[in-house]
Amino acid sequence: MTSDYAIIGGGIVGLSTAWGLLKRGLRVTVLDGDDGSFRASRGNFGLVWVQSKGMNQPRYAQWSQASAAAWADFAAELGDATGHDLGLEQRGGYDLHFSEESLEATVAKYEILKQKLGGNYPYEVLGHNALRLEEPAIGPRVVGAILHHQDGHANPLRLLRALADDVRRLGGVILNGKRVTRVDKTDLFRISCDDGTEVEARKTVLSAGLGAAALGPMMGFKAPIRPQRGQVMVTEKLPKLINRPSLIARQVDEGGIQIGATNEEVGLDDTVTQPGLSGLAAEAIAAFPVLAKAQLVRSWGALRILSPDGLPIYQQSPDMPGAYLVTCHSGVTLAAAHARFLPAWLEGADAAPDLEVFSETRFTVS
Ligand SMILES: Cc1cc2nc3c(=O)[nH]c(=O)nc-3n(C[C@H](O)[C@H](O)[C@H](O)COP(=O)(O)OP(=O)(O)OC[C@H]3O[C@@H](n4cnc5c(N)ncnc54)[C@H](O)[C@@H]3O)c2cc1C
Repeated sequence: MTSDYAIIGGGIVGLSTAWGLLKRGLRVTVLDGDDGSFRASRGNFGLVWVQSKGMNQPRYAQWSQASAAAWADFAAELGDATGHDLGLEQRGGYDLHFSEESLEATVAKYEILKQKLGGNYPYEVLGHNALRLEEPAIGPRVVGAILHHQDGHANPLRLLRALADDVRRLGGVILNGKRVTRVDKTDLFRISCDDGTEVEARKTVLSAGLGAAALGPMMGFKAPIRPQRGQVMVTEKLPKLINRPSLIARQVDEGGIQIGATNEEVGLDDTVTQPGLSGLAAEAIAAFPVLAKAQLVRSWGALRILSPDGLPIYQQSPDMPGAYLVTCHSGVTLAAAHARFLPAWLEGADAAPDLEVFSETRFTVS
């Protein structure tokens, strides 16, 4: 059977897009690699995060805000359909600071962005004492925080699980262990895998994470993406200690404190290192001193998928119309946008969001 869409890559980005297309009544086949793939969707920090996004491109801030605003309804619908509680909390999140200078410099940048957004950037600055009222476990070295009210977090593994379950429930096909090696187009797209599997589709979405770097140029995309390692760790389950998430630590819905993440330009290497983990631990203990007594239970490394300017790429192929590249730095945050708004853009519908600033033309060297 010919699908309306073949989605190459079944991480958060591919599955949230597939889910949104299925909701529009389209037929979708997802081709996903195997456990040997780099999979950011299984190793991330779970933030649904607005602050600091789009400092140089307000449209990205708006796109993240639109997604964050759509998340509650999206999580509720997925949760009801699958029985998986996505653990969404959107009661704000902190950017914690250890010096007045860095706090003031960040606030100055937020004020500029707030103006560009017509005032829609709801944050407040908490000094140490005000922060301590919100977070009694905060340490004395934290001078203050920016509390942004559009921030939150969720359980990213349950998001992935719920998406996969619901894509199947809605009639989508997910083929695992399929490495796409070739994409041809005549009237239809023919997607070929290394085990001989072939899928035909009217349109195709390349959402293969880091795998798009190899497949993209074959399909007419620049796909200038690179890996960036993030090391992460999680403690034993603890009684409630942290009320709101930050970029340093968050208490997950199951009770552990997730600590992360490093930002390392080390190529395709997702191992953990002793300096990486001890640096994370030191920062987390500086923020929440009681963590010095917590037992670590797990640590891992995962690779982010970054474009040169850190913004998403949404691009239709100039060589193969009907093929789209979809990739981003923050697939958890943008899951709701990819499920709710991106399908209209893929379908060229009247209500499609304007994603022009995210096209690959911005990478043209003049
Ligand atoms: C440490 C870390 C922390 C992060 N924290 C956050 C956060 O707090 N909030 C947030 O919003 N985002 C966060 N992210 C980013 C987020 O995890 C990613 O944006 C998201 O997971 C990307 O999803 P994806 O589907 O594009 O890629 P992936 O999850 O990498 O999935 C790509 C899929 O494509 C498949 N594939 C690859 N090549 C092929 C091929 N040739 N054929 C078929 N299939 C193929 C792979 O098997 C894989 O399953 C974090 C990332 C990292 C690494």
